[in-house]
Formats: sequence, structure tokens, C-alpha cells
Amino acid sequence: MNVLDSEIVASGLLRLGMELTDDQRHTDVILFNTCSIRQHAEDKIYSALGRLKRWKTLCPHGVLGVFGCMAQKDQKTIFRRAPHVDLVLGPGQLDLLPETVLRLLTEKSRGAETLQELHVSLKRLENRHVDVVESFRLFDPQRIAEARPSCFQATVRIMFGCDKFCTYCIVPSVRGPEQSRSPDEILDEVRRLVDQGAVEITFIGQTVNSYRYKENGKTARLSDLLYRASDIEGVRRIRFVTNYPTGMGDDLLAAVRDLPKVSEHLHVPAQSGSDAVLERMKRNYTAAQYRELVDRIYGTIPGASITSDFIVGFCGETEDEFQQTVELLRYGRFKNSFIFKYSERPGTKSAELFADDIPDDVKKRRNNELLEIQDDISRELNRGFIGREVEILVESVSKRYSNGSVQLSGRTSCDRVTVFDADNDSTVGQFVTLKICDAAPFTLFGDALRLTGDFQVVEEK
Ligand code: SAH
Ligand code: SF4
Repeated sequence: MNVLDSEIVASGLLRLGMELTDDQRHTDVILFNTCSIRQHAEDKIYSALGRLKRWKTLCPHGVLGVFGCMAQKDQKTIFRRAPHVDLVLGPGQLDLLPETVLRLLTEKSRGAETLQELHVSLKRLENRHVDVVESFRLFDPQRIAEARPSCFQATVRIMFGCDKFCTYCIVPSVRGPEQSRSPDEILDEVRRLVDQGAVEITFIGQTVNSYRYKENGKTARLSDLLYRASDIEGVRRIRFVTNYPTGMGDDLLAAVRDLPKVSEHLHVPAQSGSDAVLERMKRNYTAAQYRELVDRIYGTIPGASITSDFIVGFCGETEDEFQQTVELLRYGRFKNSFIFKYSERPGTKSAELFADDIPDDVKKRRNNELLEIQDDISRELNRGFIGREVEILVESVSKRYSNGSVQLSGRTSCDRVTVFDADNDSTVGQFVTLKICDAAPFTLFGDALRLTGDFQVVEEK
């Protein structure tokens, strides 16, 4: 979500004639896109802003800006803690950002008086409430390929916001309520991205499988979008993230099974294996229901890979409750899991209702224990690929050797990172079939067999 927001902002700046640079010392504008999901992410932004005080002294005409979820939540605090910051805009106001940066740059080179006036008008602008639907209508369609980290991969926002209100989570209050985009608009955007060179499209939403759009008495679901996007010539692979466990309908699993272009990777965060903890988190399912879902996924799509998120050390989590999470992690046989220590977010229900009472060393130990078990599972699953043929989309150069040859890295349909040696990087952005010769927990090692020219599905099972 944040990568897409950064791309949209970069597109707007490029359209105004600016250029992207990695050279911090000689730039005129530095913008931070921020996340407020955990305290750690916010701390990192404040220390990065602190380090830029010197840059502001050396480059007084420069513009330093903060946007994204943290900007939405803590506008005043950011100005107070980092007074050298020039602008702070939330995720619903991204359409205003490029013009605002340009105005600041222009006004700053004219003198302090106008700058002060500008600050006043900026404050007004920050307080403007922008309807989130209006903002992505205005914004997503005007994307520029050069603003993306990779021109052959692109994300498409199919919905905005979240209605789930898990007790620990800040997202619903910073991203607003769930709203789905119309299928025609989404598919038009996919076509435009394909024209710009994209072969892999990722549909994104906080709970992407809650996608629903009512039109002419019919409701379009995520599965309908997958069928329609699959028909678009030039689209070679379609992914979607993130799924909410209770919304994994049979129609969606059948679409993943039946549509060769749709990735067989499902990210379905479980968060905990204890019913009591799940209830305190207000996740609306039990561990047994999550197990049934795992069975249904593997039963419908035998080659599927599932990944999950877990939070350890949630308010009041006992050793026994944690052990139930260990059991669910083992049961899920996840390709990998993202494991987070609970971080209390002011303004959430859990911060209001429960004490953050698990000591940090216990959170750390539980985190490490889950990571170790997950490592073993990931290693074992990956070793099962040795000797098999897989098709990957080559994404990037992961190593350059002294003799000029390279190691390239890409992903399979089930989202396994796979590397192989090649003479040069000419296959980046293309599909290549490999034979797997070795495996580590999070990487497969292969030998390239052939370029996969026309679309072809390679058996990964
Ligand atoms: N909408 C997605 C992702 C939300 S944020 C979903 O529901 O799955 C990504 C992950 O961050 C969550 O799945 C959760 O595991 C973690 N997370 C969210 N809030 C957190 C908090 N307060 N402390 C620790 N981890 C948190
Ligand atoms: Fe946060 Fe829950 Fe919504 Fe995910 S589903 S964004 S964890 S409130």
C-alpha cells in the first residue's frame, strides 16, 4: 500500500518536471512516506527527521515533507518534534502533495514573509477533509512507469480502508472505512499498466477479499475481477494481498485453482492460535475455523502456498495461549510467516481496554521461538522443490560476480524467491523456467533451462 502511495506521489512530482534522485546531498526535496502500524516505524521516522536538521541548514530552500498514516495521525506532534519539517499530509490528501511541494519551493526562494503566509494556507489545506474515494479516483489513473520500482510489476488498489477494527490495529482510523472501486475503473487501470510494460499485476487492499462492488443489481467480487483481469492480453501473472480469514469463499479458491495466470500464493494472517486471544483481538474466527480454512485451501489448490502474520505478546497472552499459536503455526505449514511483537497504539480499542502487560523480553522470546519453528518448516517445504522445474518472473540482479556474470533473483507463482546464475541481466522482466538444484529456508537455487516465451504454466506441484 505504501509503495503504491510513494509511486503515486513520485508520478505527480515527475509530471511537474522534477527528477528522482538517490543523492540526498544535492536534492531539493525529501519526502518520507510513513507507517504507524507499530511504534518502531514511527521512532525510525523521528530519528531520520532529526538527522536532516543539518541538511535543512545547508539547504534552506529545500522542502522536507512527511506523508502517509503517521502524518494523518500525528500532524501537530510532527511539527512540534521536528519544526524544520515543511509539510505534513495524510494518505487521503496525496493528490495535493506535488503542487504543494512546488508552491513551497517557489515561495521559499522568494522570502520569509510569503513563506509564513504559505504556512497558514498549508495548515488550512492540511485540515481539509478529502473523501478517500475522490482521492483515489483523482490519483491512481495518472501513474507513470518511471515512478515504479520495477516497470514490469505494478500494484492496483482495488479497495481502500478497513472496517474490521481489530482491537490492536490503527489502520481503520488512519485509512478510513472500506470502499471498493468499480471493476471497469480497475480493469482500465490494468490495461494502462500493461501498455506501460507491466506483466505482473498485484491487486491490493487491507482486506482484499472483502472486495464488493454493486452495479446494475449485481455484486462483483474479487473472484470476478480475477476472471476479467485474466482475459486481458499482456497480463501474465496476477497476485492479490491481503486476505482476511473469514472472507475466503469457495469462489475465490476456485478462481485461484482454475486461472493459470493467478498466483497460487495466499497471504491470510492468523494473528494467534488461541481462541481467547483472537476474541480479545476481535478477529471474528476461532483457531478451529482457521484450521478448516487451511484444509480447504490445500484441498482445493494442492500447489498453494499460504503465508501468515502473527502477533506475540498481545495483552494478557499466557504461556498456554502462546503454545496454541505454536500449534497453529505448525498446522498451517506456512511458506513463511511475519511475526510481530505487540505494539500498543494509542487510540485503538486494545490500548483503551487492556494492559500491555507482557514484558518485552517475553515478547522477544516468543517471537524468536515462532521464527525458529517457521524456519524449519520453510526449509523443509523448500527442500521439496529440489529436482523440480519451476517458472519464475526474473525481478532483479541479486549479486554481481567479479568476472562480469550475475546472480538473478525472481519469484515463482507460489511466491518462492528463486536465484540462478546468468551471463548478464538480459532476462530481468521475463519469465524463465529453471530446474531447482538446492534450497535454503527462504531461497531456491536453480539452473536456467529456457525462457518461457508465450504464456505457459509450469507444474510446480
Ligand atoms: N490488513 C492486513 C494487514 C494489516 S497490518 C490484515 O489484516 O492482515 C500488517 C500486520 O501488522 C497485521 O497482520 C498484524 O500482524 C500486524 N500488526 C498490526 N497492528 C499491530 C500492532 N499494534 N502491534 C503489532 N503488530 C501489529
Ligand atoms: Fe488492521 Fe484488522 Fe483491518 Fe487488518 S483487518 S487492517 S489487522 S483492522
